[in-house]
Amino acid sequence: MAEDADTIDAEQVEDEEAPSEEETETPEETKPTREGERNIKGLFVNVRLLRRIAQVTFLLGINAYVFSAWFEAEQVQAFWIFIRDILPSIPIIAPLDAPFAAIAGSFGTMNRELTMGLFPFFTIGAMIIILIFFGKASCGWICPIGTLQDFATLPNRSKTRPAPGTEKELRRVKAYVFIITMFFSAWIAISTVLGTDEAIRDALGIFAESGFDPVNPAHILFVKALEMNWPFNIETLWYVLDWGWIFWLQIIFGALVVIVSFWMPRWYCRWLCPAGWLYGIFSRASLVGIGRNPALCTPDTCNVCEVVCPMNIRIRRFPYQRVHSAECIMCLECKSHCPNKAIVIRFG
Ligand code: SF4
Ligand code: SF4
Ligand code: SF4
Repeated sequence: MAEDADTIDAEQVEDEEAPSEEETETPEETKPTREGERNIKGLFVNVRLLRRIAQVTFLLGINAYVFSAWFEAEQVQAFWIFIRDILPSIPIIAPLDAPFAAIAGSFGTMNRELTMGLFPFFTIGAMIIILIFFGKASCGWICPIGTLQDFATLPNRSKTRPAPGTEKELRRVKAYVFIITMFFSAWIAISTVLGTDEAIRDALGIFAESGFDPVNPAHILFVKALEMNWPFNIETLWYVLDWGWIFWLQIIFGALVVIVSFWMPRWYCRWLCPAGWLYGIFSRASLVGIGRNPALCTPDTCNVCEVVCPMNIRIRRFPYQRVHSAECIMCLECKSHCPNKAIVIRFG
């Protein structure tokens, strides 16, 4: 059951993923109360609505390629090219090579620049600045893959949540994915600089342009699947049937990212996304974050914030002052649902 968050020492909180023996018990979950539901109708309904509007807008905007290609809308294409040229990449995953995408993800851009033999100074700099100021808010409000997972989860009111020990183990996987993708990118980068990259590019095949693309659901769903004539017709069908089995594996993986989210909110973000793992390193101590008001919070009898958190963060384990979690995406679901209005946004 709930423990007093004030009794948790700083070291434990720093290592959110190292629960003690008693913490491995799954807390008894409290259903969001009617009061919590009323909160939704209050001020923060606007925040939730605003987030949904932002998510849909960015999902469509980032993938404007779809509409541009369908309608051959040259002015739309010109608009998005203009937007793309003035914006830096941001901490999300977005299809860098969708021809009319407005925003590129920092991690994908880093990988691409490395495989071209360039060091991504500007990309890394912009990424760190954004994460230090806003944490992983871009994951919660902008990233199209986060959005697809959120919308897949919405119709299901009973979510599947692994035990804390299992969650901890699964979260490590994204660090391994990060190491593998960066290994491929660094290998090509060094070979490119040495002028020996041709043979390696041939050998690596689909990994050659970016170590992340083959397992990047944004690339698979928004670029790979769109490498066909739109709208779909019989010629497209023959074209698609001609694709190899690796492509179909990728498509199945991309579809699974969305479908499994119906039962497990943001499972790809929590366990597999190498970009999210990298972003978490810099967002843990961001200037904007979530805290709890000790005068209002009743952690011994309530765990609504943890039940609704899509990232499965054990919010009550952190000090009241701040939820220093690398997983927090600033979605504000905890704030919207807290029956006591105890969740506060902290600055600094
Ligand atoms: S963690 Fe999720 S929201 Fe963040 S970049 Fe990865 S897929 Fe997008
Ligand atoms: S922050 Fe709100 S929802 Fe979370 S334990 Fe405290 S009172 Fe409950
Ligand atoms: S702690 Fe709150 S703001 Fe952070 S991810 Fe969980 S629900 Fe969203």
